[in-house]
Amino acid sequence: KIRVRYAPSPTGHLHIGNARTAIFNYLFARHNKGKFIIRIEDTDTKRNVADGEKSQLDNLKWLGLDWDEGPDKPGKFGPYRQSERRSIYDPLIQQLLDEDKAYYSYRTEEELEADREEQRAKGIMPHYEYEYAGMSEEEIKKSMAESEAKGLKPVIRFRVPKNKTYAWDDVVKGHVEFNSDTIGGDFVIVKRDGMPTYNFAVIIDDHEMQISHVFRGDDHVANTPKQLMMYEAFGWEAPVFGHMSLITSADTGKKLSKRDESIIQFIEQYRDLGYLPEAMFNFITLLGWSPKGEDEIFSQRDFIKMYDEHRLSKSPANFDNKKLEWINNQYVKAADEDVVMDLALRQLIAKGNIPENPDALTIEWARKLINTYKQQMSYMAQINSMADVFFNEPAKVSGEALEEIQNETAPVVLKTFAEKIKDVPVFDKIEILKTIKEIQKETKIKGRQLWMPIRIAVTHESHGPELPESIELIGREKALKHIDETLK
Ligand code: GLU
Repeated sequence: KIRVRYAPSPTGHLHIGNARTAIFNYLFARHNKGKFIIRIEDTDTKRNVADGEKSQLDNLKWLGLDWDEGPDKPGKFGPYRQSERRSIYDPLIQQLLDEDKAYYSYRTEEELEADREEQRAKGIMPHYEYEYAGMSEEEIKKSMAESEAKGLKPVIRFRVPKNKTYAWDDVVKGHVEFNSDTIGGDFVIVKRDGMPTYNFAVIIDDHEMQISHVFRGDDHVANTPKQLMMYEAFGWEAPVFGHMSLITSADTGKKLSKRDESIIQFIEQYRDLGYLPEAMFNFITLLGWSPKGEDEIFSQRDFIKMYDEHRLSKSPANFDNKKLEWINNQYVKAADEDVVMDLALRQLIAKGNIPENPDALTIEWARKLINTYKQQMSYMAQINSMADVFFNEPAKVSGEALEEIQNETAPVVLKTFAEKIKDVPVFDKIEILKTIKEIQKETKIKGRQLWMPIRIAVTHESHGPELPESIELIGREKALKHIDETLK
C-alpha cells in the first residue's frame, strides 16, 4: 500500500522548495492511488512561528493540493502534530533505554562546544565523544547520579553501532551508503526539554503511520543512516527513500538561499502578486522532474497521469525566472476573462489606481484595460506598471521618441487627429481607427509616420498595446490634452 507524507516544520511560510517536496509526494500518491498525508513536525518549539501551520496548509490548498489525512483531517493514524504524539514516543524511548540502545547524557552545551573546539584544533571532524568511555556499569551509574544531584538536565542519546555500513537504494540517487563511524557519534534523540528530536520522531511516525515512501530534499541524506540505525534497533522495516536534488538559481548557479532576493521564494508572495496557482503548480513540478518529450505546459491531472518517480532528476534543478514568467504568461493568456478580471482588478485597487468599490463605469473601463494587457501579463500585479500611462501623467517625451514627432508631417497628423476626435460621436476604438484611416486618405501620410506621432503624443511611449484601444482607454479629454502639449 502506498502511503506518503509531506512533513513541514511550521517555522515560516511555504517555501518553493518545500512546495516542490509536497507536490512530488502528492503526485506519487495520486498516480499510484495511494494516500497523501500531512504531518506537522513541530518539536523544535523555539523555531515554530505563530500561524506557521495554517500558512503552510493554506498555501498548499492554494496550489491545488488536497490530502487524505492531516491535522485538519483526522484519520486513524493521528494525531498529525508531533507535539501531540508524546504518549506514542515515550514508551519507545523507554524501550531503547531498557535495551541499552540509548542512554542519558549529561555533558553540558559548554563542554560539548569545548570538545568540538579541541577536535577542530586537532584537525578531526567534530563529533560527540562517548562520555562514559572506560567506565564500569557501577561508575556510569555513579556519574549519572552525581550529575543528577548537581541539577544537570540530560539529553538521551542513541548508541550508534560501531563500524557498520548503512545503505539504501535511493529512488533518485541510486545506491548510497555510510559507515556508522562517520556520522558524528551517538546522536541526541530526546532534548533537554524532553522533546524528541526530528530524527527520532520522524522514524516513529513514519513507522506508525505506515509510510511506504519518503521523498524529501537532498539536505536530509545525512540523516538517513541515523534513521536506518533506529529502524534496525526497533526491528522495523524502513520505507523507500528518494532524496531530491536541490534547487539552484539560474543566475548565480548557487543553491537557492532564503536570503537570495533575486528570486521570490515563498508561495504566499506569488499569490500576493497575482500569479495563477495552476501555473505555479506547473512550473514547480518541472523543477527537477520532467516528462518524456518537449512539452512544458501540463495540468495537474496530466501530471498525475504521467508521474513517474524515476524521472526525478539527479542533478540540481535550475530555477529560471524567464521560464517562470513564460509559463505563467501561457496560463494568463488561456485563463477565463473573469478570473483575470477579478485578480487584476484587485491589484489595481491595491495600488490605488482604482478606487475601492468601483462603480459600474469604472469596472467596465477596467475590464477593457485588463483585456488589453491580458496577452502580455505573467502575473496580475504587472497591470499596474504596464498600464501606468492610464493612471499617471507620463514623463516628458524624450530621446528617440522625440525625433519621431519633430518632423514636417507629425504636426499635420496630430492637428488633424485632434480636430477629428473632438467631434467623434462615440469615443471608442472603432471610431478612433476610422479617424486614423481618414487622415491617411486625406493627407496621404501613412505607416510609421502616421501612427508613431499619434502614439507618442498620446501615450508618451513608442510601444504599447493596440493604438486605438490605448487611446480609447486614455479617454478623449486626456488624449486631446496630451496632443495639445506636444504641439506647443
Ligand atoms: N520536517 C522536515 C523538514 O521540514 C521533514 C523531513 C522529512 O521529510 O523527513 O525538512
